[in-house]
Formats: sequence, C-alpha cells, structure tokens
Amino acid sequence: MSECRTFLPELVSRRDELLRALRECANLMRGSLISVQVRCGQAGCECAQGGPGHPKTHLTVNIGGKTRTLYVNRNRHDEIAAMLDSYRRVWAIINELTEINLALLRGERSAPARRKPRTLRSR
Ligand SMILES: [Zn+2]
Repeated sequence: MSECRTFLPELVSRRDELLRALRECANLMRGSLISVQVRCGQAGCECAQGGPGHPKTHLTVNIGGKTRTLYVNRNRHDEIAAMLDSYRRVWAIINELTEINLALLRGERSAPARRKPRTLRSR
C-alpha cells in the first residue's frame, strides 16, 4: 500500500506530461509511404524491356475498408512522413495514457480512504 502512495504522484505527473504532449502534437494522418517501381510508358526506356522501373513513392491508407493510394510528389514526402510520424506518436501517447489511467484507477481502488459499498445491489 505504501508503495502505491509513493508511486501515484509519479504517475499523475507523467499523465500530465503526456496530456501536454498530446495537445502539442502536429498535424497527423494515418497511412504508409511505400516505395514502388513504375514503368514510364516510353517504348525506348529500359523499364519497357523488363529493366528496373522508376522509383516512386505512394501513400496508402485504408479508410472504411477501402485502400486509397496517392502518388507522392518528392517535395511533399517529408511533410507527409511528418504527419505519419505524428500519428504514431499520438497512438504511443494514447497507449501510455491508457496504462497510466488504468494504474491510477487501480491505485484509487486500493486507497484506504475509500468507503465500502453499502449494498451489492449494483451487481
Ligand atoms: Zn522508364
């Protein structure tokens, strides 16, 4: 029990830190950047004779069970990669917040000040 008491303030301060980080998160989106080899369509090009294609990047994202694909212009690659990183960061924060809030709820439940329920009717 005493372990819980010393541990809870640390959890509360970590929770507040994560909530601040969540508010500061940049623009985000779900999706993946995928490198692909495409054929340019020119008959004289190596790629038309089975040679290597031209490297391109696609953004794919599944929305409502449908996969959407978008060709990514090279000059927008970093901007999109940053949004995907931000999405992963938000999920990491949400997962850690969930663990902390669960631990806090468990800590509150075992706190000695809590009174016992008077009846079992709610069950
Ligand atoms: Zn080509």
